[in-house]
Amino acid sequence: MDAIYTDEHHIFRKTFRRFLMEEIVPFMNEWEEGALVPNEIWRKFGDYGFLCPWVDEKYGGLGVGFEYSVIMIEELGKAGVDIAVPLHSDVVSPYIAKYGCEEQKQKWLPKCVTGEVTLSIAMTEPNTGSDVASITTVARKEGQDYIINGQKVYISNGINSKLTLLACKTLTNVSPPHKGISLLLVEEGTKGFTKGKSMKKLGRKASEVCEYYFHDCRVPMSNLLGEENKGFTYLMSNLQQERLVQIIRSQAEAEAMLDMTMEYTKNRTAFGQSISKFQHNQFKLVEMATEIELGRVFVDEIVDSHLKGNTNEKRVAMAKWWITEMANRVAYHCMQLHGGIGYMEEYPLARRFRNVRMDTIAAGTTEIMKVILSKKLGL
Ligand SMILES: Cc1cc2nc3c(=O)[nH]c(=O)nc-3n(C[C@H](O)[C@H](O)[C@H](O)COP(=O)(O)OP(=O)(O)OC[C@H]3O[C@@H](n4cnc5c(N)ncnc54)[C@H](O)[C@@H]3O)c2cc1C
Repeated sequence: MDAIYTDEHHIFRKTFRRFLMEEIVPFMNEWEEGALVPNEIWRKFGDYGFLCPWVDEKYGGLGVGFEYSVIMIEELGKAGVDIAVPLHSDVVSPYIAKYGCEEQKQKWLPKCVTGEVTLSIAMTEPNTGSDVASITTVARKEGQDYIINGQKVYISNGINSKLTLLACKTLTNVSPPHKGISLLLVEEGTKGFTKGKSMKKLGRKASEVCEYYFHDCRVPMSNLLGEENKGFTYLMSNLQQERLVQIIRSQAEAEAMLDMTMEYTKNRTAFGQSISKFQHNQFKLVEMATEIELGRVFVDEIVDSHLKGNTNEKRVAMAKWWITEMANRVAYHCMQLHGGIGYMEEYPLARRFRNVRMDTIAAGTTEIMKVILSKKLGL
C-alpha cells in the first residue's frame, strides 16, 4: 500500500486523525452511554469532506479513490470510534451510485456527501440473517406503487438514517427464492414505516441499531433500485466491499490493541521488573505481532487488488473470517496482559474488546465465510 500513498494521502490521513481527536473522541463516552450519536455529527463529517469522498464531483463528491476510504476506516479503527460512517460511505451509498438511475443519483448522492441524508441497509429479519434468500418482507405491486409489509432488525445507523436500502421480496413463489429479491429506497417518515428504539448491545454502543417495521407502507415504483428481482445479485456483489470494510477495521483495531499493550507491559512492573520482560509475556506479544503482521500483508494485498478492480472473492472470504477472529484473539490476550485495568471501562481496551466481538458476526459470519470457501475450494 505504501506505493499507492502520495503526500496528499498522508496529509488527508493527518487531517482526518486530527478531526477525530478534536471533534469526536472527546465525546465518545457520552455517546456510548446514550447509545446514539447526535445527528448533527453527520453534518460535521460532511462539512469536512469526510463522507463518500469517492462520489463523482458532479454529485458534489471529491471523486477520489477507495484508498481515501481505507485511510478513514483505519483511522476510525485506530481511534476506537465506532460511528457508522463507513457503512454510510462505503457500504450503502455505492448501491445508489452503481445501480441507481440518474434521477436517484442526483436526488440522493449530493445529500449523502453533505450528511443531510445518512443511510442504512435493512436485510436482516427476526427469523433470518445469514440466509438472506429466506427474508419474508414483501413488496406487493399496486398500480404505480409498492406496498411493503414486514420487519427488519439490527439496523445500523437505523435511528439517524434518513434513507434505507430495503431488501424485500417482490416475487414470493419463485425458485430458487433469492430470484424474488429487490432493493427499494425507503425514506424516513414514509407512512407505514416506523422505527424501534436503539437496542442495547454489547459493543459499538455509539453506533445504534434498531428495528424497522413496515405496515402497508406505500412507496412509488420509482424507488426501486436497479432492476426488479435482481436484488440478491446486487447484494452479493456489493457485500465484497462491505466485508473489506470490516476486515480493514478489524486489522486496525488489532494493531491499536497491540500498540497499547506493548506500551503498557513495558511500563507496568511486577516482581521487580517490567511485565514485558517475562518470557511468557514476550512470547504472547511476539505471537500477536506475527499474526498482526501476517494480517497486514494480506489486507494490503486484498485492498490493492480491490483498488485495481480485481476483487478476489476467495481472499476476501478468507480474510473476513481470519482477520476478525485474529482481532478477537488479540483482544483476549491484550486484556490478559493488562490485568485488572484492562477490564475497567475507563481504560480504552475494554471498549475495543467489546467492539471487535461483532466483527465475526456482521457482514457474514465466520461460518458463512467458511461455507463460501468450501464451495470455492471445490469441496
Ligand atoms: C452490531 C450489529 C450490526 C448489524 N447491522 C446490520 C445492518 O445494518 N443491516 C442488516 O441487515 N443486518 C445487520 N446486522 C445483522 C447481521 O448481518 C446478522 O446478525 C448476521 O448476518 C447473522 O445473522 P443472524 O444474526 O440471523 O444469525 P443466524 O443466521 O441465525 O446464525 C446463527 C449462527 O448459525 C450459524 N450458521 C448459519 N448458517 C450456517 C451454515 N450454513 N453453516 C454453519 N453455520 C451457520 C451462524 O454462523 C451463526 O453462528 C447487524 C448485526 C449486528 C450484531
